[in-house]
Amino acid sequence: MDRTSLEKIQREKLLVAIRRANKVPFLRQKLREAKLESITGPSDIAKLPFTFKKDIIECFPFGALAVPITKVARIHTSSGSTNKPITTFYTKNDLRVWSELMARGLAGIGAKKGDIFQNTTSQGLFTGGLGLISGAERLGLVVVPLGSANPDKQLETMRDFGVTVFHAIPSFGLRLAEALESKENAMRATLKIRLALCGAEPWTKEMRRKIEGTLEIDAFNNYGFAEAGGPGIGVECIFKNGLHVWEDHFIMEVVDPKTGEQLEAEEEGELVITPLDREAMPLLRYRTGDITRIIDGKCECGRTHRMMEWMRGRIDDMIKIRGVGLYPSNIERLIASHAESNGQFQIVLSGIDDMLVRLEVNNAAWRDPTAVANLKTTLAHEIKRQTLLRTDVEIVASGTLPRSDGKARHIVDLRRIS
Ligand SMILES: [Zn+2]
Repeated sequence: MDRTSLEKIQREKLLVAIRRANKVPFLRQKLREAKLESITGPSDIAKLPFTFKKDIIECFPFGALAVPITKVARIHTSSGSTNKPITTFYTKNDLRVWSELMARGLAGIGAKKGDIFQNTTSQGLFTGGLGLISGAERLGLVVVPLGSANPDKQLETMRDFGVTVFHAIPSFGLRLAEALESKENAMRATLKIRLALCGAEPWTKEMRRKIEGTLEIDAFNNYGFAEAGGPGIGVECIFKNGLHVWEDHFIMEVVDPKTGEQLEAEEEGELVITPLDREAMPLLRYRTGDITRIIDGKCECGRTHRMMEWMRGRIDDMIKIRGVGLYPSNIERLIASHAESNGQFQIVLSGIDDMLVRLEVNNAAWRDPTAVANLKTTLAHEIKRQTLLRTDVEIVASGTLPRSDGKARHIVDLRRIS
């Protein structure tokens, strides 16, 4: 679809989305306060008010609904770390659109009819469960809804059913890689896996290289968040140039997180998403808290949907150490660039502001004391150079750090609160 047609769709859908937003009390209030004159299309979007996560939390459980509860076909929640979960609602049509988008994403990474698809995430309230399954079914894949199970069980199921495509949270992708590494070499030959869709937590390209290298697959980044319906907002295509955001369903902006001013393409800031089709739970200019940039350029695949860069982290993930802001993903990137690392790490904060980076190395490196000592020195130096923070580095054997079944927890904050 050419950009002119895409923008025409955006314009028509945005006006409908504003009408729907007017049915939600807190959004109606915001629209009233904004004293809008005329909104003619996406170019006027900066006139619309922002929606924040706290707006949704405050009206838990049903206050964000734009339709009577009898029109709601399903409820999901986010797996977020706030006290109350973020609730998200779908009408029948919302579920249909969602499965279309998930099918589009899976097709974009190269999955096709005849592929056997295993979902390795929980199939309950988490949007990455049923959302992926319905998309895979829509595309005509054979679905193996295993859900959460340990890495060994996942690999055995992949082997038994000849699974070719799977979905995983990236940190679980690493655990699968680790599990395969611990097996005899012949295990990989019994597997037919070739593609993985990973998302739901920030990860890095270095982490992808580990997953792809060990599992011998292609892994793709998939983006979404529960508030806007879950995964299926943006996904990489086979060229891996960035995540195509489905602009016929979402308006994407990147803004300065402090001032809220719109930024130009290539400028890094906070991603703001306006979903255009959501009936049950419309949102206007939702502040995602995710840091990224819009990529200025075309993709070889020919899609006209613009791309965004991999998330650099979340605003809320940023930790302050001695007055310096640090994103755990920066540390992760440095660690993963060393072949000795298996990708598992922890940042331990203690005392007033002492930082210790603890990481695991693979078995070969662990048996080599010189390699361990070198890695320790090099990493401390690299972290200092890149983040301006002095840190201790501790290297431990593979399997030492706790593994969580959910999203990775990299920060252990034992600091005294003064
Ligand atoms: Zn592309």
